[in-house]
Amino acid sequence: MRKNIVAGNWKMNMDLEKGIQLFNEIQQLLKEEVSGDQEVIICPPYIHLSSLAKALDADVKLSIGAQNCHHADSGAYTGEVSASIIASTGADYVIIGHSERRLYFSESNSLLAQKLDAVLKNGLIPIFCIGETLEQRNGGTYFDVIKEQISEASFHLQGNDYSKMVLAYEPVWAIGTGLTASPEQAQEIHSFIRNLLANKYGQDLADNLTILYGGSCNPKNASELFAQPDIDGGLIGGASLKARDFVDIIKALS
Ligand code: PGA
Repeated sequence: MRKNIVAGNWKMNMDLEKGIQLFNEIQQLLKEEVSGDQEVIICPPYIHLSSLAKALDADVKLSIGAQNCHHADSGAYTGEVSASIIASTGADYVIIGHSERRLYFSESNSLLAQKLDAVLKNGLIPIFCIGETLEQRNGGTYFDVIKEQISEASFHLQGNDYSKMVLAYEPVWAIGTGLTASPEQAQEIHSFIRNLLANKYGQDLADNLTILYGGSCNPKNASELFAQPDIDGGLIGGASLKARDFVDIIKALS
């Protein structure tokens, strides 16, 4: 079964106190206003993970995720955090391959392949991000770019691992820019991705895979995006930092 998911990516925002406050505000609104089967995930900075896991209200359906991990399980990698450490905090998800990591930290498809392995090996669910730059879109190479990102980083996986993944299409030109992909533009790529996976892993797996859209998604444009047949929810940056906006986006997915 394809899951409907809204995930908030807080990026490098919110100190611990403000983060717990925002988390509690979101939980309160979820309790009061959301009764659907949407899955909600919050991905704060690493150091918030265990505090948020402890602040989880048993009556609220909410999961926690990290924004990145190292590809090794442990060892002499000063400043890094492994998937096994993330798992020990109570988190269930890890964002892998966000375009900011690809751009600012030179994360390649082959490194991301190792990170996906580490996440899956530790029983966590990757939210694997792909997406083209403005140059690639204008140059008409975006289908090739997306196909390459997906095949190089993830086609070594067996179907039973792949079926646990969540994918997120995030056009780089739409992230934090206020420029959203139109519902038609997003649907075109989501359907392309699903076909790519159907060819590799079979129609059944592809039909059951959750593919999120990310990039300037907000309470105003969310319903139209989520109404597209191959868009199963969103990965939300800026708008996930305001409880009201984030919960309105979640409500748009019902
Ligand atoms: P945005 O970010 O919603 O602020 O555009 C999305 C993301 O980077 O995941």
